[in-house]
Amino acid sequence: MSRPFDLDPLFRPLAILPGVGPRNALLLEKLVGGPKVLDLLWHRPVDFVDRRFSGGVAQAQNGRVATLTLTVGKHSPSKRKGFPYRISCHDDTGAISLVFFHAKKDWLLKQLPEGKSVIVSGRVEYFQGQPQMVHPDAIGKPEERSLIERIEPIYPLTQGITNKLLNKIIASARGMIPELPEWQDEAYKKRHGWPDWKDALLAVHAPQGEAELSPLHPARARLAYDELLANQLTLILVREHQRAVEGRSYAPSAVLREKVLAALPFTLTGAQQRSLSEIDADMQRPLRMLRLLQGDVGSGKTIVACLAMLNAVEAGHQAALMAPTEILARQHAQTLAPLMRAAGIRAVVLTGRDKGKVRDTLLSQIRNGAAQIIIGTHAIFQRDVHYHDLGLAVIDEQHRFGVQQRLELASKNEGVDLLVMTATPIPRTLALTAYGDLDVSKLDEKPPGRKPIDTLLLPVEKMDTLIERLRTKTREGHRVYWVCPLVEESELIDLAAAEERFDILRQTFGERTGLIHGRMKPTEKDAVMERFIAGDLDILVSTTVIEVGVNVPEATIMVIEHAERFGLAQLHQLRGRVGRGADQSYCFLLFSGPLGVTAKERLSTLRDTEDGFIIAEKDLELRGSGDLLGLKQSGMATFRLADLSAHGELLAAARDDAKLIVSKDSELKTKRGAALRTLLYLFERDQAIAYFQSG
Ligand code: ADP
Ligand code: MG
Repeated sequence: MSRPFDLDPLFRPLAILPGVGPRNALLLEKLVGGPKVLDLLWHRPVDFVDRRFSGGVAQAQNGRVATLTLTVGKHSPSKRKGFPYRISCHDDTGAISLVFFHAKKDWLLKQLPEGKSVIVSGRVEYFQGQPQMVHPDAIGKPEERSLIERIEPIYPLTQGITNKLLNKIIASARGMIPELPEWQDEAYKKRHGWPDWKDALLAVHAPQGEAELSPLHPARARLAYDELLANQLTLILVREHQRAVEGRSYAPSAVLREKVLAALPFTLTGAQQRSLSEIDADMQRPLRMLRLLQGDVGSGKTIVACLAMLNAVEAGHQAALMAPTEILARQHAQTLAPLMRAAGIRAVVLTGRDKGKVRDTLLSQIRNGAAQIIIGTHAIFQRDVHYHDLGLAVIDEQHRFGVQQRLELASKNEGVDLLVMTATPIPRTLALTAYGDLDVSKLDEKPPGRKPIDTLLLPVEKMDTLIERLRTKTREGHRVYWVCPLVEESELIDLAAAEERFDILRQTFGERTGLIHGRMKPTEKDAVMERFIAGDLDILVSTTVIEVGVNVPEATIMVIEHAERFGLAQLHQLRGRVGRGADQSYCFLLFSGPLGVTAKERLSTLRDTEDGFIIAEKDLELRGSGDLLGLKQSGMATFRLADLSAHGELLAAARDDAKLIVSKDSELKTKRGAALRTLLYLFERDQAIAYFQSG
């Protein structure tokens, strides 16, 4: 089955709409977040202007928008530079001047010819006791009154796209909205008083008042629910499908596990043991494991992953561990090396850096099974990597790996057990949208002996004092991370800021200062990182958050410049780099004031708690789920219509709905099922659609 024809108009390019040319098509695409008509229709007004006032000049109120039918009188062009061009007009009730600055006389004479009747709409203001209208928003012929005299939606705009133009373009797009079969449960829809899909979409673009702008308005809520349902239905269908694939059954490793546990310098926490037994149980079942291991930074996920991998290895299969960056991959390999040695297991590391002969050798070890554990970046799942017999894939997600990629990976390796690790503290609602296809184990207990991190807010003016303090600290053997924020979209500008900081710090700390940034070659990055790990550097300046997963227990001080520019979750991640050893750790949040209300609340939340889950909930509350940047960085699903800070309850309902649908009609063969397929096409849920295309 391919996309229903009904949907075709919505998937046509923006350029087919009148008023959209090759030049502004690109602007428009950027503005609305996509290249097709549907993207435009999802671009919602944020405000409106009520132009329905239809009294005469005498009734128009100061400061209010009015639409007036006027007879044009005398033109008085500007006499001197800086003075306006005035046109006196009137209706039966009184006189009003239309005022234009920097006016083009020819244009005005054409638009507003003396003696003619016109419609103007704009804000009426009283000036020296007389009503006037400066630069009317709209000027038209009397027969155009109905076009002007209405509630005009105000859309988010961009340079080169005016609200007038956007209104015009959206008006023609509205004419292309098809009637679609109803995919909602009728009773549920009725209970909420929701309109049909088409009516809902039309209503969103025709606000009649404040109510329509609210995310809880029936039209908005319905569209949000559609999107959430598509999301949940996809996750549950994918999960169902993947579960249906026969998995393998492994007994929990006994011999290898004992050897590794004996080699560990600590015992597992209760949370680690609990998570491990959940993993054991999954792996023992002949069904496929799809599990998320969620735990704050430093909660000890790596060792749990390692023990899980032993299950597969002891049963004669391979296990793979994928990290988001080279450094992390190598660090995982280093951490695990002594344990692997103790257990007599052969582990290899494969990253994009390995080329030529080295790579060939690694590939053949992976193919012939000599490599029992494979650690690396996404390179380990590239097309030319063939496994002898992969039993378990662990993905250390750390913010970077999106739902999409995970689903792709899972479907490429059918039957392979999957363990995803994330340190992103995710609010419950968001977790459902991003990981709704996974079972969850939580590491909600930190390894013992950690001291709370002392977090201090510091105005940037105090930087000199801070540097002085760091000088003492580094002499005592402490190591410092110094993070410079993303200033601009451009990496070059960020880099310049970090380099400047690096130069300043070098004046104090000399050669023991390091710099690491995203433009360096992986080998260069690793070299700097290794010097920091080895203790050859006291201070490591870094541009971005690229290496958040790195574990350096001797690093006890984290300085974050322009902390007010980071999201809460990000700050939390960064801070988690310290506090990993036995020494007291500190986090200095440098800010430049004055701070806005939200920024203040963000920073004080961070100062007051280290609990990632509290921080995550607060983060969602403070910025709403509409913060695309933050969400994108976290690799989380982003929504066009739903706003999880407002639609959390709808999400829970969509989840239940999706579960019920799949339990009763997993092939989507009923009448509602067919409509739901249309819904999946509407939201381009390709992973779910793939199952129907084959069947
Ligand atoms: P995460 O990946 O969850 O951020 P790691 O796995 O890197 O955390 O563990 C952080 C640190 O805690 C490591 O140095 C690790 O050796 C140590 N660690 C892990 N589990 C324990 C434990 N049960 N007791 C003491 N230390 C532990
Ligand atoms: Mg880790």
